[in-house]
Amino acid sequence: MLKLATEIVPVHTTHPFVISRGGASEWRTVTVRVRDADGAEGWGEAAPSRFYGETPESVVAAVERFQDAIGDLDAWSLEEAEARMHRALRFNGAAKTGVSAALHDLAAKRAGLPLWKLWGLDPAKAPPSSFTIAIADDDAVLRARIAEAAQYPVLKVKLGSPRGLARDQQIIRIVREEAPDKVLRVDANAAWTAKGALEIGELLAALGVEFIEQPLPPHDLDGMRFVRDRSPLPVVADESCVMASDVPRLAGVVDGVNLKLAKCGGLREAMRLIATARSHGLLVMAGCMIETSLGITAAAHLAPLLDCADLDGAALLSDDPYAGATITGGAIRLPDGPGLGVTRR
Ligand SMILES: [Mg+2]
Repeated sequence: MLKLATEIVPVHTTHPFVISRGGASEWRTVTVRVRDADGAEGWGEAAPSRFYGETPESVVAAVERFQDAIGDLDAWSLEEAEARMHRALRFNGAAKTGVSAALHDLAAKRAGLPLWKLWGLDPAKAPPSSFTIAIADDDAVLRARIAEAAQYPVLKVKLGSPRGLARDQQIIRIVREEAPDKVLRVDANAAWTAKGALEIGELLAALGVEFIEQPLPPHDLDGMRFVRDRSPLPVVADESCVMASDVPRLAGVVDGVNLKLAKCGGLREAMRLIATARSHGLLVMAGCMIETSLGITAAAHLAPLLDCADLDGAALLSDDPYAGATITGGAIRLPDGPGLGVTRR
C-alpha cells in the first residue's frame, strides 16, 4: 500500500530568471512523498511548468488522482506505477515525475544503494553541467552575471529577448567578450523565426557557439528541419520533445534532444527516451526547470548516460531546502547515500 503526500515549496532564484517567455524570482515547486505500508519513505520533486499548463495546485490535484491509480502497488512496481499514471491522466509530466522519483528513491533505499549504482552506471561518465545566463536588459547586469558564473566552464545563454534579434546578437557578443574561452550553448526557447535563426546562426557559429536549442515553436518541425539543414550549428529540440514517443519524428529534423524529467513523466520514461534517441542517432542532453536539489538529483542519476547536461536549476536558487547532487565548477557529483541520496538542509 502506497500513501502519497504533497507539499508546495516556495523557492527564490538569486537573480530574476528570465527567458523568452518571461520570468520571475519566486517559484513554487512541489515535494512528493511516497510512504509504504511499513512507514519507509521516498521523496521526489514535481516542478510544474506553466508552458505545459501546470501549476503547483494542478500537481497536487494530479497526485491525488495517482493515489487511487497506484495506491495498491508497492515501491518495486516502478514500471506498472508509471504505466498506470499515464493511463489515469494525460500530460501532467511534473506530477508523474514527482511520484516516479519518490518511488525510485524508496526502491533504491530498500536496496541500500544509490540509484546510479542500482542502474549500473558510472558517475565518472557524467558530462559537465552548463550554467544558465538568463536574459538581462542591461549590459552591466549581464556582464556581472557572467562574472558570477566564473566557476562554470560551460554557459547556456538564454536568447529570444523581447527586444528582438538585434538584442540577442548584442547579448551573445557580450557573453563571448566576457567569457572568451568557455563552451557556449544558446537556447532561444522557441522565440525565433526560421529566417531569424539562420541570420543569427552565422554570428553564433563565428563566436564558436556549440549548438542552438529550440530555435522555433515546438510544433514547427518543418521549420526546425529547414534551419538545421542550412544552419552551420547543430540544433537540439527541447519544447518539441516531451516523451520517448516524440523522438522518432525528430530524427532527421534535429541533431539532438533535451530530456527533462518534469516534461517526460518519470525516470523509466526518461530511460526509454534516452534509448530511443540513441537508436535514432540523436545526441542526448538533459535539462531542468527551476527546481530544488531534490529534482536536480533525480536527473543527475541519469547523467552518466548523457552527452550534455544542463542541471543548474538548484544552483540558481538562494534558498534550496535540499542537499544532493552538486555542480560545483560544472562537475556533476552524485551522492553516495542510498536512494536519490537527498537530505533536508
Ligand atoms: Mg531549453
